[in-house]
Amino acid sequence: MGNKYFVWNFDDGLEQDKKIIEILKKYNMGATFNVNSGLYGDQTYEGRIGNLGMTEMPKEKYEMKKKHLLPYVPHFRIPEDEVVKVYEGFEIASHTLMHKNLPQCSVIERQRQVYQDVRNLKEKFNQEIVGFAYPYGASSKECETVLKNAGIKYARIAHTDQSFRFPENPLRLPMTCWHISKKVFDILEEFYALQTEEDLLFLMFGHGYEFDFNTKESNWEKFEKICQNVTANHDIICCSTRDAFQMHEGRSS
Ligand SMILES: [Zn+2]
Repeated sequence: MGNKYFVWNFDDGLEQDKKIIEILKKYNMGATFNVNSGLYGDQTYEGRIGNLGMTEMPKEKYEMKKKHLLPYVPHFRIPEDEVVKVYEGFEIASHTLMHKNLPQCSVIERQRQVYQDVRNLKEKFNQEIVGFAYPYGASSKECETVLKNAGIKYARIAHTDQSFRFPENPLRLPMTCWHISKKVFDILEEFYALQTEEDLLFLMFGHGYEFDFNTKESNWEKFEKICQNVTANHDIICCSTRDAFQMHEGRSS
């Protein structure tokens, strides 16, 4: 029988990750955090449309405006002097140095955004950096080459795929589900019910600020409910994305 892995992915290195980690520890779950090493401590606000963060506003501008058309939540990144402690025990993955749309960068800039970020993260967190998430989900063949040269083994795109299969090309790794989906619990049920010889992967994606939206589909209670639901299934291995790939490769080689 194949193994079933469940992994959480959270992007941007946000203050909300502290609360996420508290809850993950309560349920003994692993996770991967995609951090931009050039943006520690950066503070903006994220405006919500539906359940999605759609616009980003600098803090000064936010504070100047009295009336906002959209509900905004803080998109504050954890300061550099706190990150090592906050993320201790969790996988850190790259998200580029400055959250750049990589295919739109020049060749030199693209390399800098990846190589520099991987080097910074490795040094700061004292762990091998093998994971990556494309900012805005924007990827290309050229990006994949740069990532490979930087030692990246898997890179997440914005596309969703509910086959629960490990991807043929790990540098184009889809997510299974975004936690804001109305169907989260249905998709989880499908995952639990599936019996195959193959190893399976469920990658749940999100940003911590989305829980602050406090809408029907995006709130802290739902986050905890998902954690509860997954860990109640004892045959599911809850770990980091790196560990899921490592265990899977170890079993199939
Ligand atoms: Zn991001």
